[in-house]
Amino acid sequence: MQKQELKPEYFLEHAGADNVLCFPPQARHISSNVFGPGITRSAGLRSAVFLDRDGTINEEHGYLRDPEAVTLLPTVCEALRLLNVLNLPVIIVTNQSALGRGLMSKAEFDAVNAALWQTLQACGAYYDALYYCPHAPDCEPPCMCRKPQPGLLLQAAEDFNLDLSHSYIIGDKQSDLDAGYAVGCRTVLVRTGFGEETYKALAQQHRQPDHVAATLLEAVQWVTRDISMLR
Ligand SMILES: [Zn+2]
Repeated sequence: MQKQELKPEYFLEHAGADNVLCFPPQARHISSNVFGPGITRSAGLRSAVFLDRDGTINEEHGYLRDPEAVTLLPTVCEALRLLNVLNLPVIIVTNQSALGRGLMSKAEFDAVNAALWQTLQACGAYYDALYYCPHAPDCEPPCMCRKPQPGLLLQAAEDFNLDLSHSYIIGDKQSDLDAGYAVGCRTVLVRTGFGEETYKALAQQHRQPDHVAATLLEAVQWVTRDISMLR
């Protein structure tokens, strides 16, 4: 069976609930609770904004395992606050193969996420959930959650009743865009992190993102305009 032929049911059967981190609820509840604190499941399908982490929210440092090295990229606070105000779920989807390679412990990963969370909280912004792929690219059998595979997006869509065709993914790598293409999300390439390299290589890609932005704020501003037209 080829990967792109896998149906959502496959991911659901194979998805563990151990790779989602939900943080305490903020000002809103979407509907009845699924996971305890954090984003909650909606009665109707809803849109969400998926964000890559490293190179999109925080500065790219290779394997980020030191919480003190967490540095937000410019405009990230404003961008997340805008999504928060608009009540659009913000879901981080991140490849963390350093876990599977044994180069980073789960405790180090947790500490980095906690630092990211606190940094965002300090500027009045938050995200709703963080899904990660802990697998190395060469793991056997191949995992379905390492972007460009869309497993994390499908898992979030099931968990939170998301309409992926009215959702967005913003990232700095081709693998972010490809994960979005695989499930019909709208896609935005942000030219931070590896984004400049990805941008230069777009000419070799058969498919182009729906938008290219210089910063996360610019990306989110485009999303807010685009979503108003979709609705
Ligand atoms: Zn994986």
